[in-house]
Amino acid sequence: MLSIYQHLEKVYTGEDLILVQKAYEFSKQAHKNQKRASGEEYFIHPCFVAGILVDLGLDASTVAAAFLHDVIEDTPVSENHIKSEFGEEVLALVQGVTKLEKIQFTSTEQEQAENFRKLFVAMAKDIRVIIIKLADRLHNMRSLNFLSKERQQKIAKETIDIYAPLAGRLGISQVKCELEDLCLKYLEPDFYEFLSTNIEERVKESGNLVEQVIAQVKDIMQESNINGEVFGRKKHLYSIYRKMKERGKTFDQIYDLVAIRIIVNNVDECYEIFGKIHHIWKPVPGRIKDYIATPKPNMYRSLHTTVVTNFGRFFEIQIRTYEMNHAAEYGIAAHWKYKEKRMGDDLDTRLSWIREVMEWQGGLKDSKEFLDSLKGDVYSSEVLVFTPKGDVISLPKGATPLDFAYHIHSAVGNRCVGAKVNTKMVPLNTELHIGDIVEIITSQNSKGPSWDWLKIVRSPSARVKIKQFFKKEMKEENGKTGKVMLEEEAKKRGYKLSELLTEESFLILSTKMSFNGQDEMFSSVGYGAVSPTQVIVKLIDYYKKKQPVENIVKSSSVNTKACGVTVKGMEGILVRFAGCCNPVPGDQIIGFISRGRGVTVHRKDCPNLKHVETDRLIEVSWTGDYKTSFNVGIEVVGNNQTDLLTAVAAQCAVSKLEIISTNGRIDAKTRRVIVDFHIRLNDKDELDKLISKLKQEPKIVEVFRTTN
Ligand code: MN
Repeated sequence: MLSIYQHLEKVYTGEDLILVQKAYEFSKQAHKNQKRASGEEYFIHPCFVAGILVDLGLDASTVAAAFLHDVIEDTPVSENHIKSEFGEEVLALVQGVTKLEKIQFTSTEQEQAENFRKLFVAMAKDIRVIIIKLADRLHNMRSLNFLSKERQQKIAKETIDIYAPLAGRLGISQVKCELEDLCLKYLEPDFYEFLSTNIEERVKESGNLVEQVIAQVKDIMQESNINGEVFGRKKHLYSIYRKMKERGKTFDQIYDLVAIRIIVNNVDECYEIFGKIHHIWKPVPGRIKDYIATPKPNMYRSLHTTVVTNFGRFFEIQIRTYEMNHAAEYGIAAHWKYKEKRMGDDLDTRLSWIREVMEWQGGLKDSKEFLDSLKGDVYSSEVLVFTPKGDVISLPKGATPLDFAYHIHSAVGNRCVGAKVNTKMVPLNTELHIGDIVEIITSQNSKGPSWDWLKIVRSPSARVKIKQFFKKEMKEENGKTGKVMLEEEAKKRGYKLSELLTEESFLILSTKMSFNGQDEMFSSVGYGAVSPTQVIVKLIDYYKKKQPVENIVKSSSVNTKACGVTVKGMEGILVRFAGCCNPVPGDQIIGFISRGRGVTVHRKDCPNLKHVETDRLIEVSWTGDYKTSFNVGIEVVGNNQTDLLTAVAAQCAVSKLEIISTNGRIDAKTRRVIVDFHIRLNDKDELDKLISKLKQEPKIVEVFRTTN
């Protein structure tokens, strides 16, 4: 590749020429004795890469960097050495390429490929680095046949996924098309063979036709006084391959193997010739594309149409200006060349340049993807990093390993105890940089995030996840405390919390206190929003109303072996008499199925039954066969306690009834004396007799049967 040296003299002058020639010599010296896989001198490779860039019209610094692009990686030359010899701009470009070298493309998924392309652009910082990298890859692809089959496949796959789309994105169609065709050669060798021979044949066959179409177009141009060029252009293999694959067409169904390209001097002429062509040949519907009015995101501008010529054949015709043609071939590289005088290596200049590129693209909506990738590191707030597996993760600028951990999963974040960046242990507040490989160390024993983490993380989602953890964690803590407080309060009042707090009682409670679940009640008590007394008093209230039977049986002295009652449909079930209404044989009765305590027998008119679930009531009846006596309560009202006691005692003695207990008090309002008696007797008859006798006593004002 000696001719490159002479070629440089034709393209560059003055300082630029000195710079590129010096880089040439430096690289030659540095790579001395190194060989490529092909057995050739290694130096051939940087020469080719530089040559591609010279052809693309890049500036001297880029070409110098191309000569030097493998020097840091493959030779003992230091970065400082390059800086002192070639300056910072060239060093930055070489460093950029070297850094990109280290990205390992792992995933083949579409989404990941896009992330990699983004990362690539972002990491490159300077678009020229990518252009060098594309030229480097182009030459490597050209000399791929010297590598093992496995390497060939891997490199070709990477190229078709990452590099070719990047070249397309940057509008460098020359490079893109060549990369794609080379990839096809290695990825689909049979297809490649088939296409190259068949296209050749078809083109030869229709060669005459192409000539005639071109001649006719030239005539039209002459008539209209339009100067320019017309030529036939073979479509590249990969575009035909893609058409066949994506649209399921056979080779014979692909008619536009050759496109006619018309290049004129200005836009007016483009449209003029466009109209004239449609005048003589019918356009195929849906195939007219005006990329001049609406350029492609990658800056491509041209008019396209497919027409049916008078030979009955379809031809695609592309019409564009010289400038557009240049831009279509060289893309961003072409644009860069025009702007080169204003380029500097400071950030501001680079920023304004990229903004210009975007404006140049006409602010298209569908260019968003491209713009986003260009924005990359430059002024977006994004930092792209790797997982140990090689996936690319996008985080906000300034993000730390904690952001990364929470991005993976909140469980990873919550259990994070340490982090490695590029295999080295780092503090959790370390700022991540583009291309870092981040590994999170978790532990099951982790106590979870600390409050400080909220100051460390940058991503809103990580912050939310940490806060969620605290909310939940605190809830659990408070919940535990609250439960203990309620248990103690219940115990103080002679109950067990587990007794008081049931699903039902909680439902009633939460209508009054609006708790969203028992846990919330516990935590509310735990952090003091609600006092345990408030809750327990309400629960006890409800408990008394709801479960009179259990409650009262406990404190009554009913004979638990009482018989004399049958329960409908149940035999051998444990039967008790309710202590509240004290039924005696002869009373209208009903059974209440109490949980775990058999059936409790109440008087039908017992007020405690008003609140119970009716489906827990069951029919019971007296058998008339009982060997026990019953306890009933009567209340006697009078003016003097001794008179009342004497009267009742006397009457019981006469009737041979046993007084079990007495309990006297004075009514606050009436100032009358009230005495409650519990008396043991056999049935309602005896009770009724006793009451009527007592009513006849002059010193007794009133007598009732009582219900607790
Ligand atoms: Mn290289």
